[in-house]
Amino acid sequence: MKTCNKCGAQSYRVESQFCQKCGERLPEVDNNLPKQNICTNENCEWHKSKFIYPDDARFCDVCGSPTVYAVS
Ligand SMILES: [Zn+2]
Ligand SMILES: [Zn+2]
Repeated sequence: MKTCNKCGAQSYRVESQFCQKCGERLPEVDNNLPKQNICTNENCEWHKSKFIYPDDARFCDVCGSPTVYAVS
């Protein structure tokens, strides 16, 4: 489940990209889970394996994409 950062509406579909109520782009990851610092690049091996970076890691060391903590 993803939650809209703007209006708080929830989307139950993993495929959802935008909020049904306000059109805001939804976060890449399910932000109702305990927040884990993972790579935001869906094509990255570390993203797929849900490798968790330390809290101070801002970028994936494999693909260079921002981590969840860098985006938020
Ligand atoms: Zn919204
Ligand atoms: Zn990556």
